[in-house]
Amino acid sequence: MRLKDKIVLVTGGGSGLGREMGLLFAREGAKVGVNDVRPEAAQNVATEIERAGGVARPFVADVSSSAAVRKMFAEVLAAFGTIDVLVNNAGIGRTRDTTDLFTTIELTDDDWHKMIATHLDATFYCTREALRVMIPKKAGRIINQGSIAGTAGLPFVSNYCAAKAGIIGFTKSVALEVAKHGVLVNAIAPGFIETPMTAPLEAEARQWVIGNTPLGRFGQPHDIAAAALYLASDDANFMVGQVISPNGGWTTA
Ligand code: NAP
Repeated sequence: MRLKDKIVLVTGGGSGLGREMGLLFAREGAKVGVNDVRPEAAQNVATEIERAGGVARPFVADVSSSAAVRKMFAEVLAAFGTIDVLVNNAGIGRTRDTTDLFTTIELTDDDWHKMIATHLDATFYCTREALRVMIPKKAGRIINQGSIAGTAGLPFVSNYCAAKAGIIGFTKSVALEVAKHGVLVNAIAPGFIETPMTAPLEAEARQWVIGNTPLGRFGQPHDIAAAALYLASDDANFMVGQVISPNGGWTTA
């Protein structure tokens, strides 16, 4: 077991990549805090983990709220006593209830701020709380969810790309700041993965993705959970401020 008795908090853990990470980490011996903004999503994954023989607790919070994040960390510490691994994974693919894409000119202030808040603000708020625990005990791992949107860029989602690129810059800076305290901060930049976030993509968009992915297909959630497990484990003891990109060979926007 690679994470025996480690306390892990996965934000957005009630669906897709976060759910897969929670299940994998629990199989590797971790006790998993499953955060989600939707209570039933967090509860369902916590129940799934426990039914599989693991230990998990749901923590409902909107991680784009500083106050909600502070309260959630207090709840995690009350329940588990510490936190060893934080995965900043919560995210949204769109800010409106439509699969339509928008040019930058068409983005509203709300489209912009909601996207940045959900990804970048949340990553900052959760990282700040986690560091308050990890720095004094001189140990910890923080894994941030970037995207090829933040490394290569994607057209018609400039708010999403900005948020993900911001997360990567934040990762590199914090990593340099806290490495000397024994806290290792890294990021993952997935290509397109089959999850509820990408399920609504229209046929034409799916073909565009497949055509731009040398492996000719979407990735699976396990491809990302496996990278997260590596970064959380002792195998990654020399990884600082890195961006691992399981992406099927994607190189272009
Ligand atoms: P997903 O299945 O939609 O899961 C994301 C989860 O985060 C959902 O349960 C979502 O709840 C929750 N969430 C959203 N806003 C939140 C908030 N403010 N506070 C707490 N929880 C919140 O998506 P996914 O594909 O697993 O994506 C996970 C992460 O990977 C995201 O950061 C995404 O940007 C990133 N990513 C995904 C892909 C991909 O191809 N799937 C590629 C690169 C990066 P709701 O369902 O209620 O919104």
